[in-house]
Amino acid sequence: MTDDQDTPLVDIAPKRWRCCHCGGTGVDSHGQTCQHCEGLGFC
Ligand SMILES: [Zn+2]
Ligand SMILES: [Zn+2]
Repeated sequence: MTDDQDTPLVDIAPKRWRCCHCGGTGVDSHGQTCQHCEGLGFC
């Protein structure tokens, strides 16, 4: 019986880095679409 320490990397990798402007929410402080990431939340 094999009990390897094969840690399953089921970690969901982010598509891109979290937007440095809206923090990944996709909206700015005014509740409008972030112009930095166009509402994607990543840039
Ligand atoms: Zn950004
Ligand atoms: Zn943004």
